[in-house]
Amino acid sequence: MKKIAVFPGSFDPITIGHVDLVSRYLPLFDQIIVAVGINSQKTSLFSLEQRLGWLQQVFDHDPQVRIDYFEGLTAHYCQRVGASYLLRGLRNASDFDYEKTISQLNHIVGHNLETVFLISQPAYSHISSTIVREIIKGGGDASPFLPEQINLANLK
Ligand code: ADP
Repeated sequence: MKKIAVFPGSFDPITIGHVDLVSRYLPLFDQIIVAVGINSQKTSLFSLEQRLGWLQQVFDHDPQVRIDYFEGLTAHYCQRVGASYLLRGLRNASDFDYEKTISQLNHIVGHNLETVFLISQPAYSHISSTIVREIIKGGGDASPFLPEQINLANLK
């Protein structure tokens, strides 16, 4: 059976931390679906189209990676696409505390859906989309944290 995993997130925007994680997960799965979760409670800085476009560009060369988006529960989305694994990254203890509960809930709601965690490499553990958004809003240069395919200078 094909091992399909979903890597869900806001990707607002995708950072080199996300890219590192996907590249480390790739040898473990046949297909990884990087899926933008649409959360009506959260306002994003970048539009869904923009975030999906960047994800497409970043993973364009990789046939094992598919880009998608979903609304509603992540566990239900995994069932729809036939994924038995959910991928998340851990940078610190607060990530762990939050992810532990969600993963336990998803195991029940997703009928044995397994969450697989990788710990961030030290070089990336300080990087988050939240910090990147703050730098952008403050007029700073966020390019050290962004994949080379993302050129913010091209944004209107
Ligand atoms: P969400 O809003 O669901 O947290 P994000 O796009 O912020 O979505 O993050 C998606 C996943 O990527 C989360 O599991 C997060 O912990 C992980 N992640 C984000 N940045 C990094 C990083 N620098 N190193 C490792 N994992 C990361």
